[in-house]
Amino acid sequence: MQLLDGKLASQAVKDKLKNKISILKDAGKKVPHLAAILVGNNPAAETYVASKVKNCYEIGITSSLIKLNEKVSEEEVLEKINALNANNDVDGILVQLPLPKHISEEKVINTIASEKDVDGFHPINVGKLVLGLPSFISATPYGIILLLQHYKIPTTSKHAVVIGRSNIVGTPISILLSRNNEYGNATVTICHSKTKDLKDITLQADIIIAAIGRSKFVTASMVKENAVVIDVGINRIKDESKKSGFRLVGDVDFETVSPKCSYITPVPGGVGLMTIAALLTNTYQACMNRIHH
Ligand code: NAD
Repeated sequence: MQLLDGKLASQAVKDKLKNKISILKDAGKKVPHLAAILVGNNPAAETYVASKVKNCYEIGITSSLIKLNEKVSEEEVLEKINALNANNDVDGILVQLPLPKHISEEKVINTIASEKDVDGFHPINVGKLVLGLPSFISATPYGIILLLQHYKIPTTSKHAVVIGRSNIVGTPISILLSRNNEYGNATVTICHSKTKDLKDITLQADIIIAAIGRSKFVTASMVKENAVVIDVGINRIKDESKKSGFRLVGDVDFETVSPKCSYITPVPGGVGLMTIAALLTNTYQACMNRIHH
């Protein structure tokens, strides 16, 4: 079993970006600028945004973090987004999800200018993805592809089973893996909460992508020998031995599944880090697109 080390692979992506950005800087050109909006005090959302800002800093991307009160009106959030859309210095905009219930995620996503939508959630970017046109690919599926690329794991003619059909992970990764290109060409089966006899399907998988949101859901008896297992899940479980009172586990029971795999991602230290690397890649790309238009 080989670990798909998100730390190593994301560092390789970040080093390349850092290099490209320093070339821009040295040439006196504009560097990429990511603006992030965080609403309220959701602890997981706060951690994710802080990590994104820190990663921007590390590689020379300018970032602005706009923190809004939990009680902010939807209108005010939309106004902030419109201001960022109009701000010529800002290349990428992300609004950290989840949002408080009184704010429509759909309206928020639809308000972000598609050319600045580095999370790849806007219907225009999702539509382009489905059509195979250049677009911002949402960060987690893009991060998975970057990870497979880094470890040169072939997908052509493999059977990939994706568990989960969310708009941000399961659905886009299914599309990407089935695309007619080097990191696609897989035969993809999408499984979800209504799938019958899930185990019979996962046992046929050469590649399993688990994006369910349930701790240790994928067990050894569901996995074929030498499968590649990508664990997207980030679940908090109680752990009194930790200062925070919790620890993170994936959707895969790593301990029992890993001995059967050819490759597997750890949680943490796998897909989560790749997601950030993909976001940074999209932000750099947004800046390049805007310079060339
Ligand atoms: P979600 O919560 O929106 O949806 C879960 C999916 O799992 C649904 O499509 C559902 O049909 C499926 N599902 C639920 N129960 C099932 C069952 N018993 N059998 C088969 N399928 C079942 O999913 P999401 O937003 O894609 O998140 C999934 C997990 O990935 C969560 O733990 C989340 O925290 C994590 N996540 C991680 C990253 C990252 O950067 N690593 C990014 C996004 C989400």
